Amino acid sequence: MNLANIKTRFAPSPTGYLHLGNVRTALFNALLARRHEGQFLLRIEDTDRERSRPAYVAALLEDLRWLGLDWQEGPEISGPHEPYAQSERAAIYACYYRQLESAERVYPCFCTPAELALSRKTQLATGRPPRYPGTCARLSEAERQARIERGLQPTLRFRVPVGRMIEFVDLVRGPQRFASDDIGDFVIRRADGTPQFFFANAVDDALMGISHVLRGEDHLANTPRQLLLLESLELPAPRYGHLALIVGADGGPLSKRLGGLGVRELRAQGYLPEALLNYLARLGHAYERDIWMGAAELAAGFVLERLGRAPARYDEIQLLHWQTEAVQHVAPERLWDWMGTAVWERVPADLSEEFIAAIRPNVRFPADALFWAEQLFGVDLARSADSQSVIAMAGSGFFIHALAAYDRHGAAYQPLVDDLRQRTGVKGKALFMPLRAALTGETHGPELARVLALLRPEIIERRLRACC
Ligand code: GLU
Repeated sequence: MNLANIKTRFAPSPTGYLHLGNVRTALFNALLARRHEGQFLLRIEDTDRERSRPAYVAALLEDLRWLGLDWQEGPEISGPHEPYAQSERAAIYACYYRQLESAERVYPCFCTPAELALSRKTQLATGRPPRYPGTCARLSEAERQARIERGLQPTLRFRVPVGRMIEFVDLVRGPQRFASDDIGDFVIRRADGTPQFFFANAVDDALMGISHVLRGEDHLANTPRQLLLLESLELPAPRYGHLALIVGADGGPLSKRLGGLGVRELRAQGYLPEALLNYLARLGHAYERDIWMGAAELAAGFVLERLGRAPARYDEIQLLHWQTEAVQHVAPERLWDWMGTAVWERVPADLSEEFIAAIRPNVRFPADALFWAEQLFGVDLARSADSQSVIAMAGSGFFIHALAAYDRHGAAYQPLVDDLRQRTGVKGKALFMPLRAALTGETHGPELARVLALLRPEIIERRLRACC
């Protein structure tokens, strides 16, 4: 497949916050463009005046940036195809309505929502797929004028050609065929003058030079309509690929409970963007290797042929796995920011690197970091029940030796434990466990050598003495 000069886009409707489903769509389009050194464009499809909100636009720009899904053309960046919000493109669309009107490919439709609902119901009751019955297609010019004079606001309908077969090769699902006779004439402009999705979406893809569109499978049935529209406007069509939807663990639609979570919620829970990206890039797309990847590697390994046709199943365990991986891989400065004020208040800034190096393997969310900040730097140490029994088993003699060894060697870990082993005759777990319990209040956790290096001498002495 020739993938030179690739241009992809993400075209969200700002009617809510980004959720995992639409982030995956954005990600796949961004990866496809990056992989082929192409461009990724962002367009805001805010033609639904009732449901679109500026606050959702602001949120989605912020969320995309947080995820590192930067666009090369679109809102806040600008580019040769401004404006990038459909609500500001009415004048552009007007030219294309006129073109379709003069070619008689469209007609005004005066049917009311109640009439349309009734017709749909009747067709369904007789076992036919609901389609626009063509009532207004047959109106004479005089009948149209009479309705307009009565003050009726028409929609504009596209006249679907009769007896055509619309064929295209889907980038994911292969060859597709649709009979035009199964598609009723459809609305391209609403009665309030705003463009309908099929129209604005197809026209903008053509005008903005989009070469490839990856989008949810729920849009598959829209594609033949859009191809017909573009053909009658003599505009180029992109290659379309329809992604299998993400389903919940039970195979049903992704509900809120089963992971239909918003990006904002996941971010607030402490997920790192790299975790989401590593997870989502594998949801319906297979990489050769299942190792953690940075943004460049995710793009380099992204291949259209590896997109799956089966529904992708949301799996929280997998997401948690990539979160753990992300925490191990991101730069220390990023982790420090991510840990937040509660950690900054407890851990001296000049020890931040050592602190991160020590606790990284034991941390998955900021709350875990806060736990260790508290255990390592808190004044009063809360010891777990396990720690208390390990300390009791070791006995106070052990800690008298430990304190003496610390006096002799300071935080020099190896000499300290060698000395302690010699003097107590205790080795292995029986040696490390009580030390760990005394110093951290836990029987598991960061490497002891790192803990010793991190804790202030007076804290170490106080904690050892408390066990004598
Ligand atoms: N605004 C549409 C949506 O959010 C875009 C569909 C498409 O990608 O073509 O579903």
